[in-house]
Amino acid sequence: MKIRVNPDKCQGHNRCYAVAPDLFEVDDVGNASAANGGVVPDDMKDDAKLAIDNCPEFAIEIVEE
Ligand code: SF4
Repeated sequence: MKIRVNPDKCQGHNRCYAVAPDLFEVDDVGNASAANGGVVPDDMKDDAKLAIDNCPEFAIEIVEE
């Protein structure tokens, strides 16, 4: 599974980082990007889905299952 954060949608709430800190990086102004090039380890798929469900801007996208 691979994810990305759409920078045009991300508003920097950091909920993604709060629920899955290993999967996201946050820049100086609080906007998030996917860590590890977006690669989600198999044992962290549930965390990724939780982050997707908790992003109020629908900014987190699955690019590969
Ligand atoms: S929860 Fe969504 S809008 Fe907020 S920082 Fe994460 S990706 Fe961006």
